[in-house]
Amino acid sequence: MADQSDQFAAAVRQAANRSEVSSAIALIHQQLQERIDQRQPICVASGKCCQFERYGHRLYITTAEMAAFVASHGQLPRPPANADWDRTGCPFQIGRLCGVHAIRPFGCRIFFCDPTATEWQQQEYEKFHRQIKDLHQTLLIPYFYMEWRQALINLNLISI
Ligand code: SF4
Repeated sequence: MADQSDQFAAAVRQAANRSEVSSAIALIHQQLQERIDQRQPICVASGKCCQFERYGHRLYITTAEMAAFVASHGQLPRPPANADWDRTGCPFQIGRLCGVHAIRPFGCRIFFCDPTATEWQQQEYEKFHRQIKDLHQTLLIPYFYMEWRQALINLNLISI
């Protein structure tokens, strides 16, 4: 019997072949960007938010978002991950910047270290995460919520 990692990888690969999954995630990202544009939290591009261990937080991703990421990932002009990655933080961070900015997950889009935005982003996170979770039910996609680097490993997008 396949373990959870195998089940996640199989569900992502299946969903990545469905254009409606990527379209639905793109629409949610667009709606989120509209909310961010309205609120305008401060981002000084410090890159700290991608250094999970140093910053004391983790990034998680759902099946459908990972499918949308996988569907787009092969079209990226950059290498799949930072060759100098030290096994901490995000393997896609290059210097202070994101190497997959256009297709970064929802969790990256909503996270701001601006302390005035903490409560707002928590509310938006819950609202949009609920929307993404419901999408799994609508599109009949098995729902997983997996730590980002573990998800990348499960899909052989990085190795440790
Ligand atoms: S995907 Fe990009 S924005 Fe998200 S943690 Fe990685 S480097 Fe940072």
